[in-house]
Amino acid sequence: MNSKNEGLNNPTPPEKMETDIVVVGAGSSGLSAALTAASGGAKVVVFEKMPFPGGYSLFSEGMFAAESIIQQRDYVGITRDSAFKHHMSGTHWSANSRLVRAFIDKSADTIDWLMNMGVEYTNAAALWPNGPRTWHLMKGGGKALIQVMAQQLQKKGIGMFAETPVVELVMDRKNRVTGVIARTKEGKSVQAGAKAVIIAGGGFAANPEMVREHSGLAFAAPPVVPMPQTGDHIQMAWKVKAAPKDTHVILAIPCVPGEKPTSHLWSAAFQPLLWVNLDGQRFCDETVAFTFPYAAQTLANQKNGVMFTIFDEKVKKQLIQEGVDVSLGVFVPVTTKLDRLEEELTRGINEGKAFTANSIDELADKINVDRTQLGAAVKTYNRSCKEHHDKEFAKERKYLQPVEKKRFYAVKSILHIFTTLGGIRINHKTEVLDTDANVIPGLYAVGNCAGGMYGLAYDIFTSGGALGFAINSGRIAGENSLAYIGK
Ligand SMILES: Cc1cc2nc3c(=O)[nH]c(=O)nc-3n(C[C@H](O)[C@H](O)[C@H](O)COP(=O)(O)OP(=O)(O)OC[C@H]3O[C@@H](n4cnc5c(N)ncnc54)[C@H](O)[C@@H]3O)c2cc1C
Repeated sequence: MNSKNEGLNNPTPPEKMETDIVVVGAGSSGLSAALTAASGGAKVVVFEKMPFPGGYSLFSEGMFAAESIIQQRDYVGITRDSAFKHHMSGTHWSANSRLVRAFIDKSADTIDWLMNMGVEYTNAAALWPNGPRTWHLMKGGGKALIQVMAQQLQKKGIGMFAETPVVELVMDRKNRVTGVIARTKEGKSVQAGAKAVIIAGGGFAANPEMVREHSGLAFAAPPVVPMPQTGDHIQMAWKVKAAPKDTHVILAIPCVPGEKPTSHLWSAAFQPLLWVNLDGQRFCDETVAFTFPYAAQTLANQKNGVMFTIFDEKVKKQLIQEGVDVSLGVFVPVTTKLDRLEEELTRGINEGKAFTANSIDELADKINVDRTQLGAAVKTYNRSCKEHHDKEFAKERKYLQPVEKKRFYAVKSILHIFTTLGGIRINHKTEVLDTDANVIPGLYAVGNCAGGMYGLAYDIFTSGGALGFAINSGRIAGENSLAYIGK
């Protein structure tokens, strides 16, 4: 127990305190930063907006690593070099190369670090067919991960004040950070002086104004998980001249609204069948579903981010009896037979997100798209199926299934955001840079609020990269802030 740390058994913070390092946010990035800094002998205080730690990290399934002990055990040959090269060419070298390298190089050691704490992994998987197996799946998912990290926080005696959001960064005349101001749930102000501050507040998926302004989307895509990821900490950093970076990068997916990840209705909608937009037009090779960020990106270009998956009675039976081609994370794996589809379709119809009809015209009326357009889309698609050649988007022939036997079905999906992946510009040490690209002394940003990992757009070559980056960047910030404060 580190007696220098305080606050653990003190849910009401004092009005004034002095510490070495303040961490803003207790998600996986903040917890790993706090644990690293405390292990190096620093006095650390964590402020958390919610009543509990974890943020979006609670919902994650797996994290990136290359050359880990799990991969060695399972004969997975992905190297740090090849992961780095793929990530950099995938981002057209628009990502921060030194930051990406620092993250990838640390990732295997981070698996050991977490395993030593008590985190267990089942295996390393890929998020897309034949992709490199870098997605290290935690036993018990993000909840178990956060539980282990939070227990370590307690063991080390690191103070965490819940329901106490940081509302302002305190700077001196030379624009060096000297602490933060937080607010208790009773509305009292807390002044915490610190030599360094690590911003780990996650993304801004739950702030519709910021999403509209920064994501480049022409519509307000809702978050997958309703948590207050409002990005106030990002704006706080911008206020002290931190440069914005990569705010357009989003991790998103087409979702059937209100469905859980185990949903057979959502799974059916996410298969590479016929997809049409609100104009009743097909818009992609639907096998983009195998690489879900591609599905998200093509849907982002459609009106209101809305699409309908259209299929007939024969395909419905196939989904039930033969199973699915595309998985929904680890929740509905490939080949799962959708034995709940019938009942979930009925429920979906009652809830206005699934539709059925005896003709394509009737279906068009029900989903409120133009009859002529939908009729033409189905006709063209059926012709492609018959000719075994998709003249429109070159979809592989084995996924060309005609829509011809009544009844007909449509399931509605809307683009939802898992999280945003940019905000504050940092360098490879996770130091925050100002608008002139100079370091703001003592200020660090990590995880989903830091920009530089993805550049142009999120990709899943490095499956598990979002969570992996959160934890590894947290460790990197912990180490560099220790050096900064002279520990
Ligand atoms: C359903 C779902 C599944 C996912 N699955 C995966 C996966 O399998 N693999 C993967 O790589 N990624 C996955 N992701 C993304 C991944 O969860 C995130 O990239 C990662 O958790 C980000 O960690 P973080 O610490 O940056 O943010 P968070 O975990 O969101 O933590 C930020 C914390 O900061 C707090 N906070 C915010 N503002 C303040 C403030 N002003 N003061 C104090 N506290 C504040 C928040 O309340 C929160 O607790 C998934 C996301 C979702 C939503």
